[in-house]
This record gives sequence, structure tokens and C-alpha cells, in this order.
Amino acid sequence: HSNKLANPQNTIEAIKKYNFAFQKKFGQNFLIDTHVLERIVTAAGVTKDDLVLEIGPGIGSMTQYLCENAREVIAVEIDTALIPILKDTLSEYDNVTVINKDILKVDINQLAMEKNQGRPIKVVANLPYYITTPIIMGLFESHVPIDNITVMVQKEVADRMQVGPGTKDYGALSLAVQYYAEPYIVANVPPNCFIPRPNVGSAVIRLTTHKEIPVHVEDEKLMFRLIRASFNQRRKTLVNGLNNSPEIHLPKEVIAQAIEELGVSPTIRGEALDLEQFAELSNIISRLYR
Ligand code: SAM
Repeated sequence: HSNKLANPQNTIEAIKKYNFAFQKKFGQNFLIDTHVLERIVTAAGVTKDDLVLEIGPGIGSMTQYLCENAREVIAVEIDTALIPILKDTLSEYDNVTVINKDILKVDINQLAMEKNQGRPIKVVANLPYYITTPIIMGLFESHVPIDNITVMVQKEVADRMQVGPGTKDYGALSLAVQYYAEPYIVANVPPNCFIPRPNVGSAVIRLTTHKEIPVHVEDEKLMFRLIRASFNQRRKTLVNGLNNSPEIHLPKEVIAQAIEELGVSPTIRGEALDLEQFAELSNIISRLYR
């Protein structure tokens, strides 16, 4: 396909042709590197069996690759100015639907049900960085059937999703992502692969959803409250972090007893606990209140 958008010349031409003005508030940085696009589609394992949800198609650079590899593509774009452009750049594909909406307001469960009979979908995107976390957590928490989420994110965010205890990047996002999925960093991507260039490094990360959640948790909401409370004050000990948190309403003695039952030092910091330990701590507290 000589008419592919994803190279600097074709992207600049398209932007001029349609007189498109980039909107910073929508996190618009379009990919102009064909190798990166090929790697994303390959890493996601997109086949002609798949329904792919693309978040933020932009002018359609990645969408063209998805259309060629997937059975069907649903692309959700917030910027109304891009809709007529997409109509044109995707005109030769009959397996794509563009929805002009805020992704955070789309009922993805209903989409998966209607368009894929509730079978697992794939999510592929060069995400708008200002809402990376709400998009990914929204996908996981809505329990949409998903095979994998393969996305371009800020490099630092990819690192945070992937690490375990004992590193500075470890936090609530690491635990939340790893509760639902297995992260794998596919590639680091420099700013010169985009127009305009972002002022941060980027990375492609694949989050393959677990067939079964890896830990047993009696009260998911409680565990995530404990996790957030622990990392909100990560310099504090776990007992003080939980005791001072507005999210947790437990007497200090109960917190101390639960930490003792967990079998760790009373002066341990929350950032030292792994997912299994947070699950266990949460189960101990649930039991103390039964
Ligand atoms: N996929 C294109 C590419 O790789 O060249 C564009 C990627 S650009 C980083 C992010 C895209 O997401 C932009 O087109 C932007 O308008 C769109 N976007 C931003 N916020 C959105 C939202 N809340 N819902 C849907 N799309 C959004």
C-alpha cells in the first residue's frame, strides 16, 4: 500500500490537505513510523478472527494496519474534526466503524456483546497520555472480555505497570495492572516517531489478561483501598500509612494485629508488600470483621 498514511511525508500532506489543527488537550501525537506500527499489530497478535477496539484513531495511521489484519475494527475518536478525515483515509476498508465519542463514555461491554458475541476482544491504541490510567483501569474494572491490551504509553508509565516491590516505580498502578494482567514491554519508542514530537519517551506495552486472577481476594474493593492508602504516603510505615488514610476507617490496633498476622515486621513499609501480601492482608482484615 503506497497510500499508507504512516510516514512523515504522507502525514504532513494529510494534515495540510484537511487543514487539521492539532489539539494539545486531546493528547494528539500521530505515529509516523511503519516499523513501530507493524510491531504493535504483531505484538497484539491480531488475526482475521479478531474484533479490535482502537482508542483514538487520529487520522487513521494505525487503523489502516488494523483493518488489514483484523476481522473488524471499532475506532473511538473524541475529536469531531477528525471524523471526515477518517471517512476519507479509511474509505477503502469495509471492516471499520468509527464512533465519535469520548472513550470513557462508551459501553464497551455492550460493544463486545453486539459485535463479538461476548468473546474476548483486543484493544490496540496509541493512547492519549493524559488519560492512560483511567482508560486502562476502566477496561479492567468493567470486566469486558479482553484478550490483550497492546498500547503506546508514556515510557515511565509502562515501567510503573511492569515493576514489582523494591523499585521506585512500584506503586498502586503496578499492583492494579498485575492483578488483572501480565505486562510485557514490547518496544521503547523515541519522540521522533511522532508528529508532533511528545516531550517524553514512549513505550509499547502489552497487557495479557489473566485467565484466572492470580490471587484469592475476598473483598477486592478493600484490597485496592489498602493499596492506595499504602502508597499515598509511601515514606510512612504501613501501619501509619493505613492509620492516617481517609480511605481506611480501622482502629490502629486492628491494623497492627492484621500486620502481625501477615507475619511481617511491624515497621514494614507498604511499598515492600507484593500483590499476594496485599491480598492476604485484605483477607485478614475482612475476617477480623466477620
Ligand atoms: N492513533 C493515532 C496515531 O497513532 O497516529 C493517534 C494517536 S494520538 C496519541 C491519541 C488520539 O486519541 C487522538 O486522535 C485524540 O484525538 C484521541 N483522543 C483523546 N482523548 C480521547 C477520548 N477521551 N476518547 C477518544 N479518543 C480520544
